[in-house]
Amino acid sequence: MEKNDYYETLGVDKNATKKDIKKAYRRLVKKYHPDKNQSPEAEDKFKEVQEAYEVLNDDQKRKAYDQYGHAGTQGFSGFGQSGGYNYGGNYEDLNDILNQFFGGFNNFGGFSGFSGSPFQKQRRKAGIRGSDVEVTLNIDFLEAVFGSEKNIVYQRKIQCDKCKGTGAKEGTSKKTCDTCQGKGVVTNVKNTFIGQIRTQSICPECNGAREIIDEPCEKCNGQGIEQVKEDFKIKIPPGIPDGVVLKFREKGNAGKNGGNSGDLYINIEVSPHEIFERRGDDIYIEQEIDVMTAILGGSIEVPTVHGDIEMKIPAGTQPNKVFKLSERGGIRFKNGGKGDQYVKIVVNIPKNLNKKQKKKLEEFKKI
Ligand SMILES: [Zn+2]
Ligand SMILES: [Zn+2]
Repeated sequence: MEKNDYYETLGVDKNATKKDIKKAYRRLVKKYHPDKNQSPEAEDKFKEVQEAYEVLNDDQKRKAYDQYGHAGTQGFSGFGQSGGYNYGGNYEDLNDILNQFFGGFNNFGGFSGFSGSPFQKQRRKAGIRGSDVEVTLNIDFLEAVFGSEKNIVYQRKIQCDKCKGTGAKEGTSKKTCDTCQGKGVVTNVKNTFIGQIRTQSICPECNGAREIIDEPCEKCNGQGIEQVKEDFKIKIPPGIPDGVVLKFREKGNAGKNGGNSGDLYINIEVSPHEIFERRGDDIYIEQEIDVMTAILGGSIEVPTVHGDIEMKIPAGTQPNKVFKLSERGGIRFKNGGKGDQYVKIVVNIPKNLNKKQKKKLEEFKKI
């Protein structure tokens, strides 16, 4: 699903004041409120308006949006193999992506995550939630600059499909524990000289589960869960920052007794490059030139992430001078444009001159 521009959604321009934004929001919320508007697209519109307002009304989020746009929604539409990661049609999932990106920027920039909106709350099921799984994905420098597709491989526990997590063999079911009569606890009575002492402890038969499995499922040995290897592709958008954490809801370990699965967190780690250093969309390098080129000027070959290019060195270039090569930097995360490359000049002063060279320089010095 193509995401609309927040400003367009609210029908205000980029310089709109908070007052303008609030006004536009109030008008649109009335127009699309599901209680009043029965048209099929009203609910989506309503959510869009809510989301746009939530971002534009918050100075920090608005700044982040102006700078990075819909961050995560770009490049993250076509997930994987199984097709199980279709973020397209679901508002909550889109919001999740925004969360993960803005949350991720926390690491360097200090943007806070999104606060709760009535639409982004996770539907929590009863039971015990499964644990989260965390994996680290290493990305080459140039892959991060240009984007790539990476395989995510990890182990997780999922509900056994044969017994649907009950642990009981197909065609059988769990039965109430006889030892505790389904209470999960047993009462022990001890006779002492001061009278009877009653203590309660967890039922040793069912371990407090209240039910026992007569015939365990063969596939999972009555555990109700099985360990599986997940392997799916994700698209890394060009310009992805180092240190971003991607969150994939319910791709962690299975919960118990019908509880939600945990989440999967992917930590993105971008490897440093031998010569290029990235700061945002810009690339920084140090380039050696010889002293004569520094004095007389000339032309040199400079590596960029897009390949070598020729760069003019003006006569009289000083050491540590920084030249800017416009639009030779990394791909912009936001709009696919290009950052700049900055070239810091290191002048190579020769150390071992031969006699002839020395003599010539002595002559030059006298002039
Ligand atoms: Zn099973
Ligand atoms: Zn029991």
